[in-house]
Amino acid sequence: MSLDAFSLKGKVALVTGGGTGIGLGISRSLILAGARVVITGRREEVLKTAVATLGEQASYVVFDVTCKARIPDMLTQISKEFGSIDILVNNAGVHLKKFAQETTDDEFEYILQTNLLSVFALTRECAKQMIAQKSGSIILIGSMAGIFGIDRVVAYGTSKAALTGLMKNLVTEYSKYNVRINTIAPGWIESPMFLNAISSDPERKEKITNRIAMPGFGSPEDIGNAAVFLASQAARYITGVLLPVDGGAVVNF
Ligand code: NDP
Repeated sequence: MSLDAFSLKGKVALVTGGGTGIGLGISRSLILAGARVVITGRREEVLKTAVATLGEQASYVVFDVTCKARIPDMLTQISKEFGSIDILVNNAGVHLKKFAQETTDDEFEYILQTNLLSVFALTRECAKQMIAQKSGSIILIGSMAGIFGIDRVVAYGTSKAALTGLMKNLVTEYSKYNVRINTIAPGWIESPMFLNAISSDPERKEKITNRIAMPGFGSPEDIGNAAVFLASQAARYITGVLLPVDGGAVVNF
């Protein structure tokens, strides 16, 4: 097999939450593999800075993933400018660290809106194009918290676990159109979200460190490299997979 199978040359990717952390790492990796990448997020300044570092293969659209009504127009705008979307990375997400007994219904709903319902809405709309063109790769960003029960992440963990159910059901519908959908479950990756979560909690940091089989935390590019593979022709027969990229945390009991 030629290494060309890993190339994303000529492909257009949409990465939600691509302005920071893991999304930025994924965008960087997709660009290095040859793709043109459109990143989204709510903060224009953050997106501008990210595009400046990513270079001319990157562009941005300010887009709140919970604004479902904007999705069709946004996708039309991207298609007009860059051509149809080949790769969708549903990366945007929000975290909430609270015990179940302290989590309100509104908080739970907010997490589900952002991490799950908006993923379905954007995936469904993007898949219309992908189904019509009979090719596409959709990547969901899950979490260890969607695999294990972890204390104080009841809403977040539920939203991430539900992504696996969403993926499995979409595989049964999309595969005949050559549209693949896979989930990456990052372990503990150095990003603003993660660093915020552990900065005031050294005990948690130590617990996590002991949990990871390999030394140290992961980097956004570790997730980006996995995304390149899943998006590429090299993974053309891979769909419905939940891929932990976690330094062995899942198996390190
Ligand atoms: P960041 O906080 O850096 O990234 C989250 C991104 O999502 C930001 O760019 C943010 O942009 C965007 N975002 C959040 N809410 C919305 C919204 N309503 N509309 C549009 N964009 C939104 O954290 P990470 O990079 O760590 O997280 C990225 C993904 O990886 C998340 O899904 C997270 O759950 C997952 N993950 C992270 C792990 C880690 O260890 N870091 C471990 C497991 C999973 P803006 O605020 O400008 O809108």
